[in-house]
Amino acid sequence: HDPTVRREHAVIIGAGLAGSLAALFLARRGYAVDVYERRADPRTAPAGLNGRSINLGLSARGMRSLAEAGLLADVLKRSVPMRGRVVHSPDGTVAFQPYGVREHEILHSVLRDELIALVVDAAEAEPAVRFHFDMRLLRLDRDRATVEVAPTDGGEPVTVTGDLVVGADGVFSTVRQQMQYGLRADYAQEFLEWGYKELTIPVGDDGEPRVRLEALHVWPGDDALMVAHPNLDGSLTCSLFMAHEGPVSFAALDTPEAVRTFFDRHFPDAAALMPDRVEEVLGHPTGQLVTVRTAPWRHADRVVLIGDAAHAVYPFYGQGMNSAFEDCLVLDHCLGAHPGSRAAALAAYEAARRPHTDVLADLSTQNFQDLRARVHRVGYTAHAAADRLLARLLPERWMPLYTMVSHTTMPYADALARARRQDRLLRTAAASTALAALAATAATVGAWRRNRGR
Ligand code: FAD
Repeated sequence: HDPTVRREHAVIIGAGLAGSLAALFLARRGYAVDVYERRADPRTAPAGLNGRSINLGLSARGMRSLAEAGLLADVLKRSVPMRGRVVHSPDGTVAFQPYGVREHEILHSVLRDELIALVVDAAEAEPAVRFHFDMRLLRLDRDRATVEVAPTDGGEPVTVTGDLVVGADGVFSTVRQQMQYGLRADYAQEFLEWGYKELTIPVGDDGEPRVRLEALHVWPGDDALMVAHPNLDGSLTCSLFMAHEGPVSFAALDTPEAVRTFFDRHFPDAAALMPDRVEEVLGHPTGQLVTVRTAPWRHADRVVLIGDAAHAVYPFYGQGMNSAFEDCLVLDHCLGAHPGSRAAALAAYEAARRPHTDVLADLSTQNFQDLRARVHRVGYTAHAAADRLLARLLPERWMPLYTMVSHTTMPYADALARARRQDRLLRTAAASTALAALAATAATVGAWRRNRGR
C-alpha cells in the first residue's frame, strides 16, 4: 500500500463470523477497517451459551474462503473431521451414512468461539484493522456512510464516517433496517414454529468419547429431532429441535419428570449418553430459527450487507456460516473486478449471491423435513444409496445434491438445477426399467400360456 494515497475506510458492524473475515479481506484490498461489535471480545470473554450454537459444521464453501484468507490449516487443526452421519432410529438401530464418495468429502466440526477468535486474531494482525468491542450501532446515515455507535456500558455515543459501511450484524440487522428504511425494499422474515436448545454428551467416566466421534449424530423424529457435533475433547454438543408450544414442545418440558419421560420416549439411546439432560433442558435458553429473504443488499457505493444480515436460513443444511464466508470472498472478488466503481462492485456482488442464497433458504427448509423424518426411512436411504452408487460409477456426470451443496462451491441454484435433471433421469430410468420388467413378465406369461395351450 502506498502511504501517500488515502486509504478508503470501511466501517463494519458486527464481529461475528462474517464481519471478522470481511475485515481481513477488506484490509488486504487496501481499506482501513474499523469493526464495531456489541459483544465483549470473544478472546477474553467467550460468549458461551447465549442462544447461539456452540459448534458448527464447516464445509467446502467456508473452507475455500478460509483457504484464500490463509487460515484454513489453522482452523482444521482445531476441528474434528466428520466423515458421515450416524443415524439413530427410534427403534434403536444405528446406521452410518458416509457424506460423500471421495476421501475429501467430509465436514469439520469447529467451536464457534474458537473460530471467531482465530479469525479476529488474524484480521487484527493486519495493521489497518481495529476492532472495537462492547460498542453497539445505534444509527446509520446510509448516504454519508456514517454510523453512530455507543459503548454498551452506557457511555457517550461516537459518530464515525467511512466510505463504506458493511452490515455484518446478523439476522436482526440494524444496518439492514436503516439502509432499507423508506426505500422500495423487499423483506420477508419467517420464524420456524420449532426452536432449539444446546445440550451436551460429555466424555464418559473413563475419559473416552461415549459415541463414534468422527461423525455427525442425528436422531430423526417427527415431533423432535436432535443433531450432535463432536468436539476435540471427546464430548459432543447436541442441538435439540422441537416446537416451542404444543403437546411435544419446549413449553411442555417444564419439570425434571417431563424431561426424563420425553427422552425415554423419543431418544432412549441418547438418554443414556446425556447424564445432565434434565438440568440442561430446564436451564438452557431456547433459540429461535429464522429465515430472512431481502433485497436490496446494498445502497449506492456506501452500504452492503453480508452473512445472516442479508440471508438467514434454517440451520438444517449447515450452510449459514459457510455461505456467510462465501459472501466475504465473492465481495472481495467483486471489489477486485471493479476497481473504478464500488457501486458496480456491490451490484455485481448482490447479483452473484442473492439468487443463490434464496435457493439455499428453500434447500434448508427441505432438509428440515428430511432430517425430521426421512433420513432413516427405506425410500430415502435407497434413493441416497442409488445416488451414491451412480456418483461412484459416473464420477464426472453424477453428483448427489448434498455433495454439490456441501463438498463443492458450485452456486446453490446451479446445484439444485443439476440435481433436478439427475432426478428426472433417475425417474425415467426407473420407469423404463419397470416397463422393461413388465414387458418381460408379460412375454414370459404369454409364452407359458401358449406352451400350456399346446
Ligand atoms: P452472527 O454470527 O449472528 O454475527 C453477527 C454479529 O453482529 C454478532 O456478533 C452480534 O453481536 C453483532 N451485532 C448485532 N447487532 C449489532 C449492533 N447493533 N451493533 C454491533 N454489533 C451488533 N452454519 C453453518 O455453516 N454450519 C453449521 O453447522 C451451522 N449450525 C447452526 C446451528 C444452529 C442451531 C444455528 C442457529 C445456526 C447454525 N449455523 C450454521 C448458522 C450460523 O450460525 C450463521 O449463519 C452465522 O453465525 C452467520 O454469521 P454472521 O456473522 O452473519 O452473523
